Amino acid sequence: MIILLSCTVQGCEKKSLYVPEDTKFEKNIIAMDTYMTLTAYGEEAEQGLEQAADRIQEIEQVFSVTDETSEIYQINHRTAQEMEVSEECAKVLEQALEISTQTGGAFDVTMYPVVREWGFTTGKYRVPGEEEIQELLSKTGYEKLSLNHRTLTLQEGMEIDFGGIAKGYTGDEAVAALKKAGVEHAIVNLGGNIQALGDRPDGTAWNVGIRDPIQSEEMFGTLQVSNQAVVTSGAYERYFEENGVVYGHIMNPDTGRPADNGILSVTVIGDKGIICDALSTAFFVLGLEGTTEYWQTYGGCEIILVTEEKQVYVTEGIQDKFQLTGDYGEVICIKKE
Ligand code: AMP
Ligand code: MG
Repeated sequence: MIILLSCTVQGCEKKSLYVPEDTKFEKNIIAMDTYMTLTAYGEEAEQGLEQAADRIQEIEQVFSVTDETSEIYQINHRTAQEMEVSEECAKVLEQALEISTQTGGAFDVTMYPVVREWGFTTGKYRVPGEEEIQELLSKTGYEKLSLNHRTLTLQEGMEIDFGGIAKGYTGDEAVAALKKAGVEHAIVNLGGNIQALGDRPDGTAWNVGIRDPIQSEEMFGTLQVSNQAVVTSGAYERYFEENGVVYGHIMNPDTGRPADNGILSVTVIGDKGIICDALSTAFFVLGLEGTTEYWQTYGGCEIILVTEEKQVYVTEGIQDKFQLTGDYGEVICIKKE
């Protein structure tokens, strides 16, 4: 189990303008192999947190790749190439495919056969041989998958995994459940994937700490956000070492090997957790140049990227909302051209 906590919710000292600080409620749950902390304020907070936690458990039961009763497990162990999937699964898959297209296939939910053989879902870590990797790659490729409303067609041997997108989607859904219960101020921390609902109770922005990819128990910067998702991808989250080489859990779909494009971590900030999550995984594969190119073409999010040279790049939209606190030199701004 990985315990990732990279969010600090700063205490609010002055008297709240809207919601008293003493209406703060917190709920901790373990789901998706992750320690999650949900914090909400106001009269509806307690009930909202219950509903958000229920929703998280519900999603886990649909998307787990290892739970034999999950829908994803059923899809991966189907008996026919074509099958009907739930509306929820179709919705996430549709979003995943859109990001796959926009990122030139850097994000690809069909990488599961490769991810598994490297041991990232089983814990039996190993480096597969080149021939085996090529064989595995013949079972991947999002273009080979077709989704027509709820009808999914997957070629034999192909499998899917929402590991790169599920937590972002879950953040969206947890916040939606809180909102539905009438909560206006909340912050959800799904193992480092942060999702804010509104502002802090005193009307100021939330302060979110961004995990240091080198000293991964520390933070290397803080960011002010309101009503947004903050999602980070980095090899430090799950990796193994063999003969002095570190192998991370994010795969380059072109090579079938862990992405090795000069990035230590990449954080994506935006309105929707599902998009931020898929993009952070894709950007990790694309590297600085590919990420910059994506952002200058599509925009729609803000980015904090740390390279292996310990350079920190930040897109111009959040430049004044990010403060570097770690030992990383100065922040380099990525501008729209
Ligand atoms: P994240 O932490 O969101 O970047 O997601 C990483 C997880 O997504 C991995 O543990 C795999 O389950 C899965 N994954 C690995 N490589 C890719 C990829 N290129 N595209 C989509 N999902 C991936
Ligand atoms: Mg992701």
